[in-house]
Amino acid sequence: MNLNRENTLNSAIAILDDLVAFKVLGGESNLSIANYIRDIMEENGIAYQRVSDVSGSKMCLHCRIGPKVDGGTILSGHMDVVSTKGQKWTKPDFRLTREEDRLYGRGTADMKGFLACCLALLPQFKDPKLKRPIYLAFSYDEEIGCRATEQLLWSIECTYDERPAYAIIGEPSMMVVANAEKGAGFFKTEVFSAPAHSSEVRNSVSAIEEASHLIQWLYHKMDGFIQHGPLDSRFTPPFTTIHVGKIKGGEAVNIVADHCQFEWDIRNIPAQSIPDILREFKDQCQERIAERKKLCPEFTIRTDPQFPIVPGFETSEELDIVQKVNSLTGTKQLKALSFASEAGHFARAGFQTLVCGPGNMEQGHRADEFICISELEKCIHFLERLVDWSKKDKIEKE
Ligand SMILES: [Zn+2]
Repeated sequence: MNLNRENTLNSAIAILDDLVAFKVLGGESNLSIANYIRDIMEENGIAYQRVSDVSGSKMCLHCRIGPKVDGGTILSGHMDVVSTKGQKWTKPDFRLTREEDRLYGRGTADMKGFLACCLALLPQFKDPKLKRPIYLAFSYDEEIGCRATEQLLWSIECTYDERPAYAIIGEPSMMVVANAEKGAGFFKTEVFSAPAHSSEVRNSVSAIEEASHLIQWLYHKMDGFIQHGPLDSRFTPPFTTIHVGKIKGGEAVNIVADHCQFEWDIRNIPAQSIPDILREFKDQCQERIAERKKLCPEFTIRTDPQFPIVPGFETSEELDIVQKVNSLTGTKQLKALSFASEAGHFARAGFQTLVCGPGNMEQGHRADEFICISELEKCIHFLERLVDWSKKDKIEKE
């Protein structure tokens, strides 16, 4: 390893050490970590833009490094992490622990490792020979449904007169380029009925029984996708999944339940749309309501999104970003991811979007989450090549 890169790597590890210690979960105030990152930007003399939420307790950050011209590249990541509650960690969860090639701690893979690499590269991003700009765009509340992404994108749109062309989302992909991602929608369905003595079960309507019908309907729907398609072999699993993760209902064993609720998600392949599946489900609910109201006038069902749908994305292999980023990583590989991220929002905003970041999502959200130092090194190499590429006048077709 050349000395320069070794310095950058050490700086990235030192920054990651600090970042991991900020225990900022999705939904919580992120000012501590955002101010830390802002300070690094300031130390490097980079003008940044903050995008606060209405309460003033959360903020996104973005900045441009390089000339005000079209065709730049956005590097994007989120500052929040998921909780470690209930997980059996054998290492400290919010303190970086180094063991051989591994750095343990919540967020090392998802995705503070990428943030640390971007920040460690700031001195190199400031290269005066840059012909096209590099932007950093860091969000919060990604882990609870990408809630700040729209606001961040809107601010990017308003702040810069020029138009960035590309967005690279540094979610952990082992530095392999991902050009497709499943979308995700999260819902809560509530079934309301009227209580009755359990002996009256066939003269009343049980909210639990109706909820279980609906849950069965959802699983049958997914089984239909598995049997009849559409299938998309790039993804694991290759079909749209539907899953019920939480259920609650009833008061006592001898009372017909007047309330039952369940929470469920859809993770769709690009060939299917979440609103279409949701519409079918709601039609099914309407049928049940019409049928059961005959026996129980109070009977009703309502389904609410838990938060806005996280769109999937698919970036054509024909687009220049695919060749470009593959040339920067030095691989020809392309993969598809079965988790949802902010990439779909960036793609919708019109940027050529890919996911490419250090670490493995298999370690993300788990106990003893870690990132390999070799992954950080690969990411740094990638970002150095991005700087070289951004010094070229024209976007070359490689
Ligand atoms: Zn993530």
